Amino acid sequence: MSKHRSLSYQFWAATALILSCSVVLSAILISTYYRELQATRLNEKRLERFQLVMRAVNRLSAERGPVNSVLGEEHSTDSPSRKRLITFQANTDAALDQLAPIAGFSRQLAETRRSLAEARQLIDALDRQPLRARRPQDFHKVVLAMFGVVDTAQTLVDAAISDFDPAGSDHMIGTALVARMLSDIREQVGRMGSNFVASIAARTPIGPEHRSAHDIAYGRVLGFWQLVEQQTGTNIDPQIAAMRRAVVEDFFGKGMAIYRELLATGQDGNYAFDTITFTNQIVPTFASLERLRDMYLDSAMTQVKANGEHARRLLIIISAITLIALLLELVLVIASQTLLFRPLLSARDAVMALAAGKTGGSFATGGTRGEIGSLFKALDRLRGKLIERDALDREKLKLTARLRQLAETDGLTGILNRGALEQRARSMLAARAEQQPLPLILLDIDHFKRINDNYGHIAGDEVLKETARRLQAALRPADVIARFGGEEFAILLSDPTARPDQIAERLRAFLAAPFTLDTGATLNVTASFGVAALAPAGGSWPDLVEAADQALYEAKAAGRNRVVARTAA
Ligand code: GH3
Ligand code: MG
Ligand code: MG
Repeated sequence: MSKHRSLSYQFWAATALILSCSVVLSAILISTYYRELQATRLNEKRLERFQLVMRAVNRLSAERGPVNSVLGEEHSTDSPSRKRLITFQANTDAALDQLAPIAGFSRQLAETRRSLAEARQLIDALDRQPLRARRPQDFHKVVLAMFGVVDTAQTLVDAAISDFDPAGSDHMIGTALVARMLSDIREQVGRMGSNFVASIAARTPIGPEHRSAHDIAYGRVLGFWQLVEQQTGTNIDPQIAAMRRAVVEDFFGKGMAIYRELLATGQDGNYAFDTITFTNQIVPTFASLERLRDMYLDSAMTQVKANGEHARRLLIIISAITLIALLLELVLVIASQTLLFRPLLSARDAVMALAAGKTGGSFATGGTRGEIGSLFKALDRLRGKLIERDALDREKLKLTARLRQLAETDGLTGILNRGALEQRARSMLAARAEQQPLPLILLDIDHFKRINDNYGHIAGDEVLKETARRLQAALRPADVIARFGGEEFAILLSDPTARPDQIAERLRAFLAAPFTLDTGATLNVTASFGVAALAPAGGSWPDLVEAADQALYEAKAAGRNRVVARTAA
């Protein structure tokens, strides 16, 4: 039974181990994909913020265009330039407002707004002066203030970039840096234009400091563009490739040509266009650059969203698969327990019971089919055969007992025969303790031949039977009574301390009582007794018989119907 338990214990221990391994494995898989999903969602949020910042910075740069136009004409509240400026300012404010809810950007946003408010105040102050009264250095101050606003806004860009995970394998920082470089290129070139605007407005030659500033800025722009081309070169998006070509054509081709022409014509302050025309010509050449940046960020966003969707799908699939696997495992465990393991254990119990000879109830348990069902049917057949064999064995035992009884019993009287008596005597002799006598009484019916002769053989048999009955009645059950020969009986007394001569005397008196035959006739039967006991020193069964026989002979010789005792030599 303890083995039974330990096997069951092993089964459940193994099951628990397998199940917990599966659970741990599933948990690891699911948490890995969950983290992946979280990471892509975080990236999406960071990229979204970065886009918002980029847009705001772009709007801040773009505001310089209408400022140039407004300051290039007389003060007006409803001129097209003024209206454009108002629209641009509203756009900038809206873009900045979108950054307001982002907790990490609040300080940088406040600084940018303050710087912007100061610049706008300067612009308004200058705008209120008549066109003639506006000095180039005042223009320059305004331009520097607007540059300062964009410079301050770089702290927002820095904050948005530092938000990205520097160890991330998703190249988000690389993407952000490319976008920033595109922004910087646009800013640098825009500043070149703004630097020239003051000279154009005042119709003064472009000073050497502005020429060298242009050369430096142009060198930087080309350097940035080389980096951008390297970084975006691997992007296989055909739209981005087309936009890159557009930048080379519009921005570097047309835009830079306008600057070169300006530098050439501006040597003597004799410009081919005023500030408004200049602004209107140069600003559209920036568009391709801005669109390239937006496209690049949009494509990165699409990629991040696709990654998120991929991670989400994987998470769902992995969760479903692991759940199904766990359920299948559970079903398998329960099925193997109920369909295989438990029936096999009870089959084992059944076999053990059969081996122990217990053929109790039927094994063919309902519900078990297939191999296990046939196993139980076979066990049931085996049980049937065992039951049959047991019945046969019992029958054999009975027969054997009956045969032995027959072999040991005298057919007529039903008491032991001489052979059986000798066997008992020998075993009693072997078991006898030293010093113990073994008393034997032999008795022989007197003149039995006459009974046969006078009443017939049947009556003689009746007398023999009655004699045996009377002997049994007079003696103890443990005493051995046997028919020794024709009308001769032998008694082995079980009690070694008994006085055999006295018992023989009692038997003699008991037999002397009249016999009634079946016919109704009564007759007197007597018997002679020879009593002997083995001497304490030893002696054998033949010695004992010989001594008793001798005593019996003496009793006959002395006139019959008497007891003679002797001691065996
Ligand atoms: P004694 O007093 O000397 O013993 O004389 P007895 O006649 O009894 O002795 P004897 O040996 O001369 O005769 C024994 C007789 O017992 C002989 C035999 O026919 C008879 N006898 C032996 N066995 C049976 C039996 O089974 N049934 C019957 N009816 N008679 C038997
Ligand atoms: Mg005789
Ligand atoms: Mg006789």
